[in-house]
Amino acid sequence: MEKTHHPLRTNIGYFFNKPIGFSRDFTVEYPEVFIEPDLQLFNLSGRFSFSRTREGLLLQAAFEAEVDSRCNRCLDPFRAKLSTEFEELYVFGNRTQEEFDEEVIPKDGYIDLGKPIRDYLLLDVPLNLVCKPDCKGICVVCGANLNRETCEHTDSRIIFD
Ligand SMILES: [Zn+2]
Ligand SMILES: [Zn+2]
Repeated sequence: MEKTHHPLRTNIGYFFNKPIGFSRDFTVEYPEVFIEPDLQLFNLSGRFSFSRTREGLLLQAAFEAEVDSRCNRCLDPFRAKLSTEFEELYVFGNRTQEEFDEEVIPKDGYIDLGKPIRDYLLLDVPLNLVCKPDCKGICVVCGANLNRETCEHTDSRIIFD
């Protein structure tokens, strides 16, 4: 599969000379994007803005995307929808990252949004991923997918609420 690298690298160099309060909105939409090191996203869409503050740049973002996943009950592959809204402050690089919680603005004037998008989207992955709320799961005896078929092992089934 063709992987697109760094489509989310955003040029913010021109913000450096802008007055405090200057901001700009962006929207993105990608049918497929790979975020290093391990996240393949589908139908990524979102909007974000960068605003010039005294310390640096404030990123405010809202994204949604789909990931290939597997249902915890019936084990069928399906695409799980994730969404996230977050803020991140990028400061000019005269302080060390260890001192503060903030990210430092890269010297080359490009911020790679892949990193925060990956971090925040992964927080949205539920522990119990199911393909649909009423998924019937599989029969523990014969392995039949009870969404699609029935079997005679009614007594051995795990009942999900
Ligand atoms: Zn399922
Ligand atoms: Zn069965």
